Amino acid sequence: MPRPIQATIHTAALQHNLARVRRAAPDARVWAVVKANAYGHGIERVFEGLRGADGFALLDLQEAERVRQLGWRGPILLLEGVFEPRDLELCSRLGLWHAVHCDEQIDWLAAHKTQVPHRVFLKMNSGMNRLGFAPLRYRSAWARLSALPQVDEISLMTHFSDADGPRGIAHQMAAFATATQDLPGERSVCNSAATLRHAQDAGVRADWVRAGIVLYGSAPDFPEHSSAHWDVQPTMTLSTRLLAVQELQAGDTVGYGSHFTAEGPLTIGVAACGYADGYPRHCDTGTPVLVNGVRTRLVGRVSMDMVTVDLTPLRHAGLDMGFGSEVTLWGRASNGAVLPIDEVAQAAGTVGYELMCALAPRVPVVVMAD
Ligand SMILES: *Cc1c(COP(=O)(O)O)cnc(C)c1O
Repeated sequence: MPRPIQATIHTAALQHNLARVRRAAPDARVWAVVKANAYGHGIERVFEGLRGADGFALLDLQEAERVRQLGWRGPILLLEGVFEPRDLELCSRLGLWHAVHCDEQIDWLAAHKTQVPHRVFLKMNSGMNRLGFAPLRYRSAWARLSALPQVDEISLMTHFSDADGPRGIAHQMAAFATATQDLPGERSVCNSAATLRHAQDAGVRADWVRAGIVLYGSAPDFPEHSSAHWDVQPTMTLSTRLLAVQELQAGDTVGYGSHFTAEGPLTIGVAACGYADGYPRHCDTGTPVLVNGVRTRLVGRVSMDMVTVDLTPLRHAGLDMGFGSEVTLWGRASNGAVLPIDEVAQAAGTVGYELMCALAPRVPVVVMAD
């Protein structure tokens, strides 16, 4: 028998979250962002749940090929554009739309031989200072592109640094609006946080929103708001079982470095999940976990293949907590209880994005329809 650990991808939750995005941005089209192998879920595994989107946005050309292989004939957008000139051949062949964020990418397009002109998204650096043309250089980039026979429609895009926080998006929206004022073309500015927090403004939701993390059931602005607040559901469950139960006495310690010491008699469970499965080693005593759907806490350090959990809440409730009990590290337990990935990420000093993306290859993954 294999180790009992497993990840489950919930198709109905993906559909629910996509519908939630549409409610937040009515009449905008939705890019389902599936970069990083669909935030660790697996592109092939989320495709059914997200095929109701208007397009798929990603970074890797290989991932774009995989989306086409799944039979998707609609729009696919390369969010960082191409990385070298010959990538443009694949764009022509697969009909990929691509971002253009620098002069080199325009040079490559100008030299590209193609029958079909490309749809491009011209990216502005409106303040994040990663990719894109500065506002003062944006128009000349637009003019250069629009003169190329290799270019079809030009859409306008930018990306927010603070859509999830107190600084907000106004300063970047102002820079974008000023520099694009009389330019034609569709516009796309919102990531998940902007879609949930700012897209009631039609100018902000614009023509396309680019929804990533919210589709995967994580609150982009946690802990200010939770996934329950935004009405999104977990799309990935990481679950396992208890391999052993230990009875501790006062003064007994648990795990490497004796990081936890029992103050009195304590029953703990040993679960088959460790940092080699993608569970963060930065989690320590106090990190929330569900056992048979009941919320409890980690005790002691995370090791490579095991974690140890406090079974006191189950004992008090007179619930089963023996060998083989279900342990939910994040996501949804069999009894329907939910442990948001955001809470586990917070305990590890990181964000839900990183935990999803870091699910280890050794963890078997199943797709569940509901
Ligand atoms: C990743 C990404 C998104 C999606 O971000 P989320 O915070 O996951 O919604 C949107 N736009 C661009 C350009 C991205 O790279």
